[in-house]
Amino acid sequence: MSIFFAPRRIAGKIRNQARLLLKASSTLKAKNVLWQRRLLHDRTSRFLAQSDQWKPETMVAWQLCQLNGLLQYALKNCPGHMRKLTAAGFDGKLERLEDLGMLPFFTKNELRAQGDEFTATNFPSNSLRAITSGGTTGTPTRFMVEAKTYDALFDAWRHTMWRRAGYIPGKRCLDITWAFTDGRPLINSDKKNHVYLSIHDLDYGTLSTWWQRVKAFQPEFIIGFPSTATALAKLLPALGALTEVRALLLASETLTADQRAIIAAAFPHARIFQWYGMSEMAGFASNCEYSDAFHHWPQSGIIEVIDDDGRPIQTAGQSGEIVLTGFINQVTPFIRYRTGDRATLGDYCAKCGRMHKLLTNIEGRVGDFLLGERGRVVPISALNFHGDEFRHVFAHQFIQDEPGRVLLRIVPRLGFNNGDHSAINQLVSGILGSDITFRIEQVEMIPRTPRGKQPLIIQRCSQNS
Ligand SMILES: [Zn+2]
Repeated sequence: MSIFFAPRRIAGKIRNQARLLLKASSTLKAKNVLWQRRLLHDRTSRFLAQSDQWKPETMVAWQLCQLNGLLQYALKNCPGHMRKLTAAGFDGKLERLEDLGMLPFFTKNELRAQGDEFTATNFPSNSLRAITSGGTTGTPTRFMVEAKTYDALFDAWRHTMWRRAGYIPGKRCLDITWAFTDGRPLINSDKKNHVYLSIHDLDYGTLSTWWQRVKAFQPEFIIGFPSTATALAKLLPALGALTEVRALLLASETLTADQRAIIAAAFPHARIFQWYGMSEMAGFASNCEYSDAFHHWPQSGIIEVIDDDGRPIQTAGQSGEIVLTGFINQVTPFIRYRTGDRATLGDYCAKCGRMHKLLTNIEGRVGDFLLGERGRVVPISALNFHGDEFRHVFAHQFIQDEPGRVLLRIVPRLGFNNGDHSAINQLVSGILGSDITFRIEQVEMIPRTPRGKQPLIIQRCSQNS
């Protein structure tokens, strides 16, 4: 997969960057998979670093070239986009970035209902990997990516964003975004200096016996969700401070003011750094070196914020839905993709001087959770299943009436069978942990709230019950 589309009539500097990237992707035919991934990661990182300070007019020219490349590619290779773009009267080229607003939106419902039509036909099926993304609701979306490049590209983007908080690959990271089921709270990953602390074990009872190991590791960065970083921060007064931590790298949930205050009190010398990126790789945004506002990365695509009538918002201070057009994922092109996340448009950042679009806040997931029997918290972000277990499920919802017991309601799709039931049972029981028993109930529909939402979690007991 080439990372970006080959430009035609653009400045030499940009053309050379594109050549480097195409060269990186062509070398993926070589045998050494790890080496290929490293190469793709490093070349992507290098391009992002080099283009970070491009002048606005250079970036606009590059984006327009990428956008037209994406649209022509989708017209040729994706039947779903071909149908939509043709119906909208698109003739193969946009003259200005602003003209993107004339093209139709791409919705999650379209992706759910006709996902195959939006998968590019020029990739062999055995080179693809299915990704399922849950988001704030229990209606998952499923889309395809290229198996051999996805992780390297995602890592390159994450690492480049984190660099603004001082991160360099190889720095000691404590990762609190995964739940492990084999009973060990601490897991060494295959990445250098990257240790996982299972979110099953963010309680004093378990951690007190393992804390010396965590302290001895001397993490410099903590990778987490706002909810798991808060849970860890609450334990630190009893466990002992982690004085080497330079930054907490947080994503996937909205960070509340209360959470920020708790984390800041436990890590008084660390930066609380937030980044935004979907598994669709339709776009990325992050804080900068100096500001807590989200800077959209223009190399990842084009961002729009639209009002309730679908019109792009131009005025700072107004809020709306984030719509992304992505330059990265060519297996499933995302063109004017309605993310369902809301944000407030900001002005440009005077602190770093980048003329990148700014979002002063992003309202994604709020900190819903499930509770274990002893009060342990399972954050909503841990329930965002990326595998294929839910492929025959139209919608699902967790319901909790008492700590330690959870009901999972699912609306099956055509083709759902006992194998799907077992796979979901195994996956979810592992993520929930041993102090939560749960059962699956098949239902015909999941009722909507008066506001029309289908929340992923219906929580009827409080954290202190
Ligand atoms: Zn800035």
